[in-house]
Amino acid sequence: RAEAGQPAGSSASSGTDFGDGNLVACCPPEEEEEGDTFEKLAELPVERSERRPTCSRCSRPEKVCLCPFLPVNPLNVSTCLYIVQHPAEENRVLRTVPLLAACLPEDKCKVLIGRRFSEDRYPELAAVCRSPQTLILYPGAEAANLEELTLDHSDSPYNVVIIDGTWSQAKDMFYRNSIFRLPKQN
Ligand SMILES: [Zn+2]
Repeated sequence: RAEAGQPAGSSASSGTDFGDGNLVACCPPEEEEEGDTFEKLAELPVERSERRPTCSRCSRPEKVCLCPFLPVNPLNVSTCLYIVQHPAEENRVLRTVPLLAACLPEDKCKVLIGRRFSEDRYPELAAVCRSPQTLILYPGAEAANLEELTLDHSDSPYNVVIIDGTWSQAKDMFYRNSIFRLPKQN
């Protein structure tokens, strides 16, 4: 059961979020996930905002721009985030990655869009996944609770791989890309 061992507060029916490991649904469905009720619900338009002016920093419609709530300067973090984003997620209205990217230094937040991440095509990502200092945010059966994890800060900084998509998209990406099963799951 993929739902087992997920972090507290997360829900098996949703996609990926960042702050607390929760997953957020609402993504246009795609051919691989027919029959998923949550995908069907996600099909309902959340907001028809594509033609409205959007903020260039947080990518949200200007009326609901969140920039006043974001730090003015990028946060000084040592951890590097690798966000592997399902292509459908890129066009969603409720975009969380631009918010995250707006808060972090450019070299600490890398967004890779796609479904298949082979070692050949993504050698850098594969090398990151092989590092013992890399964790992947995925609530699978083998996942450890982040709070219970003993982190070794004496070595190089940690990398965190985050799969951004609905729950079923994230599950598909996790199981079809062997490199994502190399890091410790959290
Ligand atoms: Zn903004």
